Amino acid sequence: MTTVFKDVGHWNRFRNEMPNTTSLGCVPTLGGLHEGHLSLVRRSLEENETTVVSIFLNRVQFNNASDYENYPANFEEDVAKLKALGVDAIFSPAHDQLYPDFYRYRIIEDEESRSMEGTHRPGHFDGVLTVVMKLLNILRPNRAYFGEKDYQQLQLVKKMTEAFFLPVKVVSCPTIRDANGLALSSRNRRLTSRGLVKAARFPEILVNAENVELAVAELKEAGFEVEYIEERGGRRFGAVVLENVRLIDNVSLNVADAQLRSGMSRTSRQAEGQLK
Ligand code: AMP
Repeated sequence: MTTVFKDVGHWNRFRNEMPNTTSLGCVPTLGGLHEGHLSLVRRSLEENETTVVSIFLNRVQFNNASDYENYPANFEEDVAKLKALGVDAIFSPAHDQLYPDFYRYRIIEDEESRSMEGTHRPGHFDGVLTVVMKLLNILRPNRAYFGEKDYQQLQLVKKMTEAFFLPVKVVSCPTIRDANGLALSSRNRRLTSRGLVKAARFPEILVNAENVELAVAELKEAGFEVEYIEERGGRRFGAVVLENVRLIDNVSLNVADAQLRSGMSRTSRQAEGQLK
């Protein structure tokens, strides 16, 4: 049975009754659930006796008001998907429940949060780290599941749990992509069907371009507005805009990913061919 918790006190009563020997896995989300989110949920269900998924559209992490207002969330659909998977609990509090302090207190990371996504979305990671800290303190999970799709976020969360000695293991989960190689994202729903196919050129170019400069040039040529392409720690990261929708992705530059590369270029070229 899936129980929906909207109230911190209600959750606390449930959590306090859980035996210490029961492991709790949590999957924090903004809602608008797709197969990417559900892959994290399945992993948690496999690895823990109890799984809680949070659905909370965290206003303070949105640096752009229209992105927040147009975020494609549908609570009833999300609940149905999670019930179908057999999730034990859904935690979905109102804004005031999580921010009784009106966001006067916040978690700020002073280095890595300033680059890439942090440069282009000022304040974004302050909002993310603050809400994750609140959720981890309230939910008290043994494991918390995060996607490599948001690699910079995953690293920041992992290092925050270490910095604050939080008794939780952060589990990283691989990026789930559609048949054309495009990373699944709630925001993809705002693309037209043509845009959805075109968007698959983004991961293809990200993974195949010889270097950063060529990646930028090829993406522009393909019709994307490029916010950044950067390489760090053996990965290439990027953010682009297509049809007013902002897309982010990252890939490993490891040679072992060569297979993924050739597979991606084939599928997205085929898809573009079908458009012509
Ligand atoms: P969000 O609702 O966008 O905050 O995402 C909630 C969690 O799901 C985050 O840890 C994301 O990294 C993860 N996630 C989102 N999209 C994907 C995807 N395509 N593959 C794997 N994980 C994802």
